[in-house]
Amino acid sequence: MLKVGITGGIGSGKTTVCEIFSSFGIPVFNADAETKQLYTNSTELRHQLVVTFGEDVFLTSGAINKAFLSEKLKFDEGRKALNDTVHPFVFERFKQWSDEQKSPYVIKEAAILFESGADKTVNKSILVTAPMDIRIDRVKSRDARTSEEIQSIIASQWTDSRLRDLVDFIVVNDGKHSLIEQVRDLHAKLIHQATHF
Ligand code: ATP
Repeated sequence: MLKVGITGGIGSGKTTVCEIFSSFGIPVFNADAETKQLYTNSTELRHQLVVTFGEDVFLTSGAINKAFLSEKLKFDEGRKALNDTVHPFVFERFKQWSDEQKSPYVIKEAAILFESGADKTVNKSILVTAPMDIRIDRVKSRDARTSEEIQSIIASQWTDSRLRDLVDFIVVNDGKHSLIEQVRDLHAKLIHQATHF
């Protein structure tokens, strides 16, 4: 089955684009949401997290300690340790999930598709782009995040200019180009590619 990755910086509109693919009947795997599920449900991942980061990685309630992890994520070393621990579990979950789908192609939504190496788990990739000021405004209206928090997330993600050279398709979500038309065109192309895959 053809596997398609969708990536883009914070607030670019990945989820919005995925909702349109979903409305066309295409199954979408949300890597962030699946990771959160695994933090709760995978005994093996929970064990590996404790081995890597110590007991403080979980609160006494058993929930993941977000504040502790956020501190770790500020540094390359911590980010790498977390990614190296978590991603093999997410990759395996994506493989199992894909095998269960009955669709010409499936989509994996991942904010850090290339940064995490998840690009190797898909056959084609799509970048969602939007001007930086629009992205920041959209995130501010959606989340209770400060400008500093948003800037720090942006700084930790690869830039559009770097990603542009790596992807197969680009969707422009600047509020001027029709998203539905772009996704409809891409859907037709992907259905065609899936039949020759
Ligand atoms: P994140 O990486 O933070 O999960 P994302 O790339 O998935 O973000 P979305 O959540 O799809 O981005 O979009 C960010 C916000 O902007 C959402 O509130 C969404 O409803 C809004 N938005 C996205 N695209 C548009 C658009 N074309 N016009 C107006 N609002 C939009």
